[in-house]
Amino acid sequence: MTKKEFPFSEKAVAVYFNAAFTFLDSIIDRSASVIITDRNIFNLYQQKFTGWRTVVIPSGEEHKQQSTIDFIIQQLIELEADRNTFIVGIGGGVVTDIAGYAAGVYMRGLKFGFIPTTILAMVDAAIGGKNGVDAGIYKNLVGLIRQPEFLFYDYSFLETLPREEWVNGFAEIIKHACIKDEVLFEALESHSLDSYMKDKDLIAALVEKNAGIKFAVVLGDEFETGERKLLNFGHTYGHAIENVYHLPHGHAVSLGIVKALKISGEINNFSSTESKRVMDVLQKYSLPVNLQVDSQSVFSILKMDKKRSKNEINYILMDKIGKAVIRSISFTQLEKLIKENI
Ligand code: ADP
Ligand code: ZN
Repeated sequence: MTKKEFPFSEKAVAVYFNAAFTFLDSIIDRSASVIITDRNIFNLYQQKFTGWRTVVIPSGEEHKQQSTIDFIIQQLIELEADRNTFIVGIGGGVVTDIAGYAAGVYMRGLKFGFIPTTILAMVDAAIGGKNGVDAGIYKNLVGLIRQPEFLFYDYSFLETLPREEWVNGFAEIIKHACIKDEVLFEALESHSLDSYMKDKDLIAALVEKNAGIKFAVVLGDEFETGERKLLNFGHTYGHAIENVYHLPHGHAVSLGIVKALKISGEINNFSSTESKRVMDVLQKYSLPVNLQVDSQSVFSILKMDKKRSKNEINYILMDKIGKAVIRSISFTQLEKLIKENI
């Protein structure tokens, strides 16, 4: 186990890499804690949670809605949770987003920590303090920024993670490589999903590397005034298609990256050879690079994106592999780019 501290303005977040679940008892008091997890994880790991008070929510992004928060709050009331209760969110990004948000609003805020159990949550969703829910089809429209006390990485949870969830997580890993780290990109080119799935040390190192990238970017720009926007690479378009076409997040991001590559070629001189390298890596990790969409309706959802201002939107484009840039694109130009289906 290695412990690292990340100093956010609100508080320092303790990160326990390569920790065993039983170690949780030495960080928090069981009798004053409530675990929030989803049905799948609970069914798989019930015996681990014996002796812990647990709130179980349904699995899946479609439940990342306000109604699930209301359900959790009802359960917390029944468990007589008070201001000293500690919330532990154990699960994928959906669970950590929901648990962090519920903890943030119950009695105006309880302390909380996360045990991410998907690659996606380990390298991305659980890091940075953004918690919240979707509002209908609009992704992450409601929520707050609040840091957890700790993040706890127990890689043994990955043994039951379905292959398609590994694929989803790799969309964010490829995103990190594209925007920040050429060496990481080359590593992804030379390894394969199977090699990461089989080799515990290899995946542990990859997760720690990627969590480090996310922490560094977020710490440099906690409230998303600049650099943190780069993490939205692939997400503006991705979010616009995700819920409408019922896509897994990673697939939506992959298609969003492809769209961003094309726009980068069009307006930022990004080379087509480099673009192909990125597409090849996406495909190598079983991510889609093609989807027929109704571009008119995609564009109208895209206009609702949180990163918009009145007539324009900040779009993240590639400069070269390992470096992305923020460009402001007017809606008129973006509409053309999206509809031309470049
Ligand atoms: P995310 O992809 O954002 O991390 P979820 O929280 O929806 O999103 O997790 C994806 C799916 O994987 C859910 O169905 C969840 O129940 C399931 N899941 C999460 N972690 C594990 C795990 N370690 N083993 C098996 N299934 C898991
Ligand atoms: Zn994402």
